[in-house]
Amino acid sequence: MARQLFINGEFTDALSGETLPTLNPHDNSVIADVALAGREDVDRAVSAAQKAFPAWSRRPAAERGRILLKLADLIEANADELARLESLDTGHPLRDSRMLDVPRTAACYRYFGGMADKFQGETIPVEAGFLNYTLREPVGVVGQVVPWNFPLMFTSWKMGPALAAGNTIVMKPSEITPLTSLRIAQLMAQAGLPPGVVNMVPGLGGVAGQAIAEHPGIAKVSFTGSTATGRRIVQASAGNLKKLQLELGGKGANIVFADANLAAAVNGSAWAIFHNQGQACIAGSRLLLHAKIADAFLAKFIPLAQSIRLGNPLDETTEMGPLTSALHQKRVLSYVEAARAEGGEVLSGGKAPGGELAKGCYVEPTVVRAKTPGDRIAQEEVFGPFVTVLTFQDEAEALAIANGTDYGLGAGLWTQDLQRAHRFARELRAGMVWINSYKRVNPGSPFGGVGLSGYGRDMGFDAMREYTQVRSVWVNVDAQVPPHYPR
Ligand code: NAD
Repeated sequence: MARQLFINGEFTDALSGETLPTLNPHDNSVIADVALAGREDVDRAVSAAQKAFPAWSRRPAAERGRILLKLADLIEANADELARLESLDTGHPLRDSRMLDVPRTAACYRYFGGMADKFQGETIPVEAGFLNYTLREPVGVVGQVVPWNFPLMFTSWKMGPALAAGNTIVMKPSEITPLTSLRIAQLMAQAGLPPGVVNMVPGLGGVAGQAIAEHPGIAKVSFTGSTATGRRIVQASAGNLKKLQLELGGKGANIVFADANLAAAVNGSAWAIFHNQGQACIAGSRLLLHAKIADAFLAKFIPLAQSIRLGNPLDETTEMGPLTSALHQKRVLSYVEAARAEGGEVLSGGKAPGGELAKGCYVEPTVVRAKTPGDRIAQEEVFGPFVTVLTFQDEAEALAIANGTDYGLGAGLWTQDLQRAHRFARELRAGMVWINSYKRVNPGSPFGGVGLSGYGRDMGFDAMREYTQVRSVWVNVDAQVPPHYPR
């Protein structure tokens, strides 16, 4: 198991010699001690990435793509090992790691491997006698900072397009879940990625992350994480005016209208919040029910929530694992108290399970009815298996509640009315809208938000735009330009 920093193609200890244990959230036992990058390690990583940049950026795009395609194949060849490692370190049920995280990671590298030689500049129709064209050039050394909720997937969303476009990378995985990222570094080397093109520096956010955000040798930072950290990165990056891409928190509205297919809406809404223990920025964490069907909906939804099988993530039958850390478990449970204090009603769950699971970071699937849409549990991101139920009387009220937070990431709606569906898709303040479904992602489809959910987009052509800058080139092909200073 790789547990050192990956700099300039080699695994190496931190210069300070420091390490941090990464824990198994099922029982809080130590899985491994992992090297902890400090500022001086970030400096080493940036130097390696700077040195690797000229050759990598000039390499034919198809060759860069071929390495990513090879990486996708290697991920598939090692799928079982990667799925187990992701489940061990994060608490994702193995069934999800196998069915979702690993295949989506491979698909992402494959998509951007194919994209590498298809993303192109344009010719612009300008005045007579001139040819004007644009070049899409890599930005340079890119710093990437990701959270702990989907380490495999998020590193692929960031590294896939950055590498396809010809950038070199300093990646900081979360200090809580570094293991699969380091394994991917090994597979990258095996796929033929030259030394220095990707450097991995797992370390503390306030140290290694902050150093990346401040570093004058880094041209762009792509960040996924909380809104509070996003703000710090904006401030820290001002020195050299870094290009920024911020994928931040969310408080997804999932709206069920009276005409919805109830069975599909119940199942989809449970998935929207309970997948990955609710630790998803796009989670459907606000369940907006039309008053007419609210009781009927909850009569099916609550028993479904109560039937979700909690257990060891490595058990094949587990449907929900532990939260990623004990600290986070405490934070999520504190919202149950906050809900009660505000007059909210806990309809189901609301505590850590006992018995065998008491030694891990588990929280029962929790359903809470809020008193008003302004309550803390209806406004703040809980980031756990905790859904806040609100009711509405008509479309106008549904829209006002849905758009009534500072976030704007994912939103969903369930209805049979085609016109209403598309009307809402336009009017919801969100970067992504799902109709009669929730939480679909695909490497071709842009992912990101508005408002306090950040700016910029992962995936799709938009990601390639994020990781390139455009240069406009003017050529005088046969223009007779009268001299400005006739002499
Ligand atoms: P976090 O902001 O605490 O940490 C994210 C990463 O930033 C970690 O690697 C951390 O070490 C690093 N970091 C912390 N302080 C830093 C600093 N001062 N400078 C630079 N880096 C620093 O977030 P988290 O608790 O790990 O993740 C949960 C949050 O991430 C939630 O708010 C969630 O909504 C958000 N998220 C957003 C998206 C999205 O695409 N919009 C996706 C997943 C998660």
